[in-house]
Amino acid sequence: MDPPVAVQEAPCVFCDIIARRSPAHVVYEDDHSIAFLDIFPFTRGHLLVVPKHHGARLTDLGAGERTALIHALHEVCRRVDRIATDYNVALNAGARAGQVVFHVHFHVIPRYGEVNPFQPRSRKPLDGAEAKRLVAELAVP
Ligand code: 5GP
Ligand code: ZN
Repeated sequence: MDPPVAVQEAPCVFCDIIARRSPAHVVYEDDHSIAFLDIFPFTRGHLLVVPKHHGARLTDLGAGERTALIHALHEVCRRVDRIATDYNVALNAGARAGQVVFHVHFHVIPRYGEVNPFQPRSRKPLDGAEAKRLVAELAVP
């Protein structure tokens, strides 16, 4: 049986930032989204782009909210271009994927030449049969 997946109980640290009950270094805000500096940055300028609607996962957001979130992500990335030519955008969904704050968010992580965690040395080429199984599962809407 799978181990239980941690679920964030209220209160939520990101909701506290959105409501200004907790401080944050905000770099972008609109009616639906906010972006602020990560408190434990991987690199200089590590940002979090967060919808104001509380939901643990991207799939918890409505169509308008996710459109607004991508708009905010795009605007933040445009600004990150000022400090770094290279960056990663990441979303951790679920505890096994490393999610610790269960209010959905994108990480924008500028890269200056340090080891990139998205390029592990243990990668193997995609297996053809496995690829067909995955396409059969994932290509349907
Ligand atoms: P996750 O692992 O859930 O994708 O990432 C959560 C991120 O939120 C972590 O990188 C962590 O450093 C950041 N974080 C957690 N609590 C706070 C906080 O109170 N303020 C800010 N600015 N970042 C936080
Ligand atoms: Zn929240």
